Amino acid sequence: MAPPPNAFNRLSGLVDRFGRVATDLRVSLTDRCNLRCTYCMPEEGLAWLPNEQQLTDDEVVRLVRIAVELLGVSEVRFTGGEPLIRRGLVGIIQACAALRPRPRLSVTTNGIGLQRLAVPLRDAGLDRVNVSMDTLDPQRFHELTRRDRHADVLAGLRAAAAAGLTPVKINAVLMQGVNDDEAASLLRFALDHGYELRFIEQMPLDAQHRWDRHTMVTADDILASLAGFHLEPDAVSRGTAPAETWVVPGYTALDGGPARVGVIGSVTRPFCGDCDRTRLTADGQIRNCLFATEESDLRGLLRSAASDETIAAAWQTATLGKRAGHGIDDPSFLQPDRPMSAIGG
Ligand code: SAM
Ligand code: SF4
Repeated sequence: MAPPPNAFNRLSGLVDRFGRVATDLRVSLTDRCNLRCTYCMPEEGLAWLPNEQQLTDDEVVRLVRIAVELLGVSEVRFTGGEPLIRRGLVGIIQACAALRPRPRLSVTTNGIGLQRLAVPLRDAGLDRVNVSMDTLDPQRFHELTRRDRHADVLAGLRAAAAAGLTPVKINAVLMQGVNDDEAASLLRFALDHGYELRFIEQMPLDAQHRWDRHTMVTADDILASLAGFHLEPDAVSRGTAPAETWVVPGYTALDGGPARVGVIGSVTRPFCGDCDRTRLTADGQIRNCLFATEESDLRGLLRSAASDETIAAAWQTATLGKRAGHGIDDPSFLQPDRPMSAIGG
């Protein structure tokens, strides 16, 4: 007998219609943030999710457990908003590190608070961090993030390195006339400290809808700015990773391996065909793509005593609807209602 349409299929994991399998889960732990990066949020912040709509720590851990045990997820990244302001973060990491098979666990953070949290997070089972830092200039940082916290980010990076949360990666978004003159100096800084720098093309996911294709700094622009470095194509296959990477001879990363730099050309060099991501928002919605315009509600299922298998089946159904690509270049492209900070970048 054929299974009913929404039955859980233990063998297929999170497969979509194009045969892509999602094994990398991004969990947003909050839509709130202690910075106001101009390309992400307006100065006054956003209408935050009411507390009762946010998943509790236990609900987050249950969904991660279902993803890992029933759906084949092997990589879990916690993000936001700013994940370090989630009070239960250390406990969530600890519970996720106890899952079997143990997923690899990472956090994407603006680095504020990492000085205090790096060791507790490592002890709880966190494997590594990405710290976002778009400039080396404290004054420019203040203008770009609307907060005077550059020193905290630098301290967070040092603490992550000292705690062994390696590779410590730095995410940087370049914008014309704001910080596009810093590509080379950011790379020099990263190489000197053993951090791995990743440039990310700015995407149309800002709450203010100010993104402009014509003024964005492209992967080609970034690579042209790095012409003074001797970058060698990376022998390690890119696989499903979004970043194209290069090795920088003569430098070593914190773990003793070769130094690398990456460029994530989400807009001009899309990698949708290899995408292995699935996303969970802080209010329990599954998004099969950053640019999805539809979501699937798991919170309602969680709170109506649904079984693990029923929730897993709903997640599988949500994955089937994943589109082939983000379609930013299509005339019909619509920016999703949720901004990056509420999806989980
Ligand atoms: N608050 C944390 C942080 O800044 O790392 C985690 C959330 S933030 C949304 C995750 C990443 O998304 C950051 O590296 C940030 O620079 C990036 N980001 C935010 N808005 C973006 C946009 N419109 N285009 C590209 N990257 C963006
Ligand atoms: Fe906050 Fe991260 Fe958005 Fe900056 S990019 S406002 S740190 S969520």
